[in-house]
Amino acid sequence: MDLLIKNGTVIDGSGAPRYRGDVGVTDGRIVEIGRIRNPADRVIDAEGMIVAPGFIDGHTHMDAQVTWDPLGTCACWHGVTSVMMGNCGFALAPCKPDAREWFARCLEAVEDIPAAAIMAGVDWDWETFPEYLQAVERLPKGLNYGAYIGHSALRMYVMGERALSERATEDDLGQMTAAVTEAIKAGAVGFSTSVSTTHSTPDQSPVASRLADWSEIGRLVGAMADLNAGIFQVGPDVSSGTAQRDFFAALQRIALSSGRPVMFGVIATRMADDPTSWQYQTSMIDDTVAKGGRMYGQSSTRPISVIFSLKSNLPFDVLPGWKAIRDLPLAEQKQRLADPEIRARLIAEEATMRPRDGGEFQGGGDATTNPMRPDYDNLYAMRDVDWDDPTVAQIARTRGTGPVETMIDLMLENEEQLFVQPIVNVEKDDVLGMLKHKRTLATFSDSGAHVCQEMGSSLQTHLLSYWVRKREAFTLEEAVRMLTFDNASAWELPDRGLIRTGYAADLVVFDADAIKPRMPTIEEDLPGGAKRLVQKADGIAAIIVNGKLAFVNGESTGDFAGQMLKGHLAR
Ligand SMILES: [Zn+2]
Repeated sequence: MDLLIKNGTVIDGSGAPRYRGDVGVTDGRIVEIGRIRNPADRVIDAEGMIVAPGFIDGHTHMDAQVTWDPLGTCACWHGVTSVMMGNCGFALAPCKPDAREWFARCLEAVEDIPAAAIMAGVDWDWETFPEYLQAVERLPKGLNYGAYIGHSALRMYVMGERALSERATEDDLGQMTAAVTEAIKAGAVGFSTSVSTTHSTPDQSPVASRLADWSEIGRLVGAMADLNAGIFQVGPDVSSGTAQRDFFAALQRIALSSGRPVMFGVIATRMADDPTSWQYQTSMIDDTVAKGGRMYGQSSTRPISVIFSLKSNLPFDVLPGWKAIRDLPLAEQKQRLADPEIRARLIAEEATMRPRDGGEFQGGGDATTNPMRPDYDNLYAMRDVDWDDPTVAQIARTRGTGPVETMIDLMLENEEQLFVQPIVNVEKDDVLGMLKHKRTLATFSDSGAHVCQEMGSSLQTHLLSYWVRKREAFTLEEAVRMLTFDNASAWELPDRGLIRTGYAADLVVFDADAIKPRMPTIEEDLPGGAKRLVQKADGIAAIIVNGKLAFVNGESTGDFAGQMLKGHLAR
């Protein structure tokens, strides 16, 4: 056989208790499990290690990145072997050639994927969705990728500029439903959209999908229902609790009329006014299922947070005095920040920031582009990844300095210092409650998006190190199942997410006592040299994708065996 993983402890993804066993792989498939006596070209000794199916992340925005980053960072460093991209209606196809730059600028505005990186990094040789799938299929890929056809892209493709201001005509709807049908037949995993008020174009106007009414969305999901194929994903309305209750009523109607799996993500505890609880949102899932629909909620495994630092963004960067300094090279910035007169000016300038008005919701993008004065009781000086950091306010009190001065001092003491501002799902118990619900999916890394604002790619290693090892809230078997079989089932992947003979050999070999995300860092490694947050992990000995060894102790082998994950009509 090609590959033999010997002496490991198998956690097979089903939730069943672990057992000791070898796993043998040939031609990309698991061919033997047990006490294997056959020789193999390559042997990995997994003594003391867990052997699990590769993790599956259903909510990423790696549509552009996949074209320039064969590794699939940062997902690939956390045991992930399969991802879904094209979430929330954002996609790079279908797209007419003259709309490419506009698409790139929208992705920058909504998802903080630099337009310059997209224009420099993407070799844009497609127009239709099937052509995009073929283009991605040809690329060397470290991960397996599934892709949604995105509503905002589709609407722009069919309606042009009108997509940003008008309702669709019957003719528009005909063209859009035909494109959805074509995409699903070509292998799209589904259709995605967003009704989230946090999703706006560079002009602060709603992205194209937000101009659609629910009857349009119903028609497009209906195109999938006609084929009995495809998954519907939607970025939910979080503008207020009232808006969210309307959203769920509409989503339930679509789930019941289409019969297709419907997913919203992310379950969020923060809304501007009259917020609904996560329990309300999961009760709507249960109610929809009781009435005959299929619905899932996507959950984070910790707060969704904005990360600030000297090397990336700070909440003060839009203030003129700060801006003048922040454009300088790092060493010069540090000199100015150490100068007593300049410091005093910078500290005084913070007082001019827009005050935070109680419940006002601030999305991840807003936190860096349109910031409010930070709430220093909700701004943590990151010391570790254990979600146990002191706030800036606490440190300021201990040191007897003001909060801005404290931040400046911390950055001068350590130029890598990160500050974390949780924006949704802030309470640990809320996150745990969501994860414990049987119809939620542990996913929503947002990998590929918010590249210099958020870092969700470590959701899997966080689940295993924090919720399993530190808090003992889940058994390892339960947590592995959440990251593998549960997600494979929700996205209807027929041969992944379990360790079974005949299944694709996507495997992760890790030390259950050591697996843990590392601290994020800021790197300048996007096409064109733009900055982004990077996070790796410890404790993962090997990652295997389609039978090929992809990573050994966190280092890429340079073997890219990822495939396209296609819906059943295209298999
Ligand atoms: Zn999204």
